[in-house]
Amino acid sequence: TSFTQFDLSTDILRALQSLGYTQPTDVQQAVIPIALQERDVTVRARTGSGKTAAFAIPICERVQWEENRPQALILTPTRELADQIRSDVTDIGRLKRIKSVALYGKQPFARQKLELRQKCHVVVGTPGRVLDHIQKGTLDVSKLRFLVIDEADELLRMGFIEQVSAIIDELPTARRTMLFSATLPEDVERLCHRYQQNPVDIAI
Ligand code: AMP
Repeated sequence: TSFTQFDLSTDILRALQSLGYTQPTDVQQAVIPIALQERDVTVRARTGSGKTAAFAIPICERVQWEENRPQALILTPTRELADQIRSDVTDIGRLKRIKSVALYGKQPFARQKLELRQKCHVVVGTPGRVLDHIQKGTLDVSKLRFLVIDEADELLRMGFIEQVSAIIDELPTARRTMLFSATLPEDVERLCHRYQQNPVDIAI
């Protein structure tokens, strides 16, 4: 098995090759074809499983370079994860020249605002700062087609539920929602029910 089995463009396949990704991991094998069909997925997978690329690959494939406004939003619990995901998206989308911005607290709002004014395809951030940018009008979500809720159990454990809900309420309803979580406690299940449409369940 290799990445060529998926319906991916040469720009993405070549980027994966240069990253040294020769074989898809189990979670990538399961998620990529379904995400490319533009269906919602609920994925039980841990860090280390290759879950970041499992959502970053289909998102990079589907992003339209010509559109200047953000098309994908990835919510994650920590700055470290936000930086890591942004870096993975940049690597996977390098040949497509995909632009990604990370938004989190304890970093100047004004600088993030400037970054958001330029072409930006993918936004990765922690809930508080992302909501702040939406409410202040510096993050335009009108063209958003993909939402990823990463480490959903951690997001809820850290008390981000209200911010996550407030963000999702501002997003276009014609979008795909991918949810990743190490565990699926009741509050995460509720989030899936509320914000996903006929999700495909994947457990790795
Ligand atoms: P993650 O679970 O997303 O944190 O990924 C764990 C690590 O696996 C990261 O360092 C990735 O760069 C790496 N990785 C992801 N997918 C692949 C792959 N298909 N082949 C080799 N390494 C990978």
